[in-house]
Amino acid sequence: MLVNVFGDRVRAARTLRRMKSSEVATKLGWPASKQTRLEYSERAFLDPEQLAIISSLLQFPEKYFLEPPPPPVTIDDLLFRAPVATPKKEKAYLAEFARAVGEVLEWLDGRHRLPAVKIPTLPADTSMAEAGKEVRRALSLPDDQPIPHLIHLMERAGVPVIVRGNIQRMAIHDPEDLALDAVTEKHLGYSTRVGEHADRPVTVLRANPSWERVRWTVAHELGHITLHSRGLTPDSENQASAFASELLAPASAVRKELPAHVTLASLTEVKLRWGISLGALITHLHANNLVDAERFETLRRQLYTRMNSATGRSWGRDEPGWDAREIERPRLLVTWMERCLGIAVPHAVAQMSGIWPADLVASMISGQRPKVNQPESVGPPTPKPDNVISLDRWRLREA
Ligand SMILES: [Zn+2]
Repeated sequence: MLVNVFGDRVRAARTLRRMKSSEVATKLGWPASKQTRLEYSERAFLDPEQLAIISSLLQFPEKYFLEPPPPPVTIDDLLFRAPVATPKKEKAYLAEFARAVGEVLEWLDGRHRLPAVKIPTLPADTSMAEAGKEVRRALSLPDDQPIPHLIHLMERAGVPVIVRGNIQRMAIHDPEDLALDAVTEKHLGYSTRVGEHADRPVTVLRANPSWERVRWTVAHELGHITLHSRGLTPDSENQASAFASELLAPASAVRKELPAHVTLASLTEVKLRWGISLGALITHLHANNLVDAERFETLRRQLYTRMNSATGRSWGRDEPGWDAREIERPRLLVTWMERCLGIAVPHAVAQMSGIWPADLVASMISGQRPKVNQPESVGPPTPKPDNVISLDRWRLREA
């Protein structure tokens, strides 16, 4: 008896395992064209033995290939401008990962409704001050206060955040792939919309040891979600970046806190209070005419040439205050797993689903925040508990 396999599932699993279609075809003893035909046919009838080979080769349960796939997420649905050198297959991987996240979310949502999406979608030409205000309203935040934990508020407003871990590769080791990794490492995050009606925004981050970069990347992604729901424009990266700074540190509020003579030392206090990097803050102040062009250049030069004696790298890399705050991490996905399934352990979740491999589930939840009062067990080390700001350590000599 033959089994009815969804071709799209085979393509998706292969993409997530970073295998070439020809590698799979070889294992099956097929010409490459037959594999391609399978992947692009809605359904195909296979011998159970062939399905077993595909399942063991791609390390996905057989049932995965027999279940109707979720709506596609294509590389054009990704809200991010990849480095020019990013190959299509890498983007396809990121799209497929987001789609898998979407399927997990939909599964959980069916058991217990996820938080409603409250983030507004606005025209791309909305002023940053206006867009920032609208999003702050959606996050239930006043216009003139720092944002304590952005990821937490964003998830409460219906946008799950995933810190992407590794999925086991099944591809035969290929030097080309290592070169790819180096390219992909450069992107910090991306967003897309998932679900039956593509109405659930999701942000996927790469793990990053800098609290400043994580917060800023998340704010930048919120910019894309808010301003670019109809797709990216040539100016969308600049818009999302300007939005990120305005959301974290509204110019109208920060202007009141600026000293008469702006230095890196005085800005470090502003930075730590508002939770925005010095690099972004300087650009933001300049863009809003709060520092003049000459001062802007001086501050930038200082930032990128001075050394952080604790890390031996420039302040451009490790700014003053680099270890003064906890790295924000998401928690919605594990919270929902615990709520719906009673457990958020990859093997158990994979087994309950019956369709996902444990390492795929692990790649979605390994970067999540552990429960309060629980020992830190996964993810990168966090330098400090809570958002404790240790200002005194960063009192700097005036430039
Ligand atoms: Zn972007």
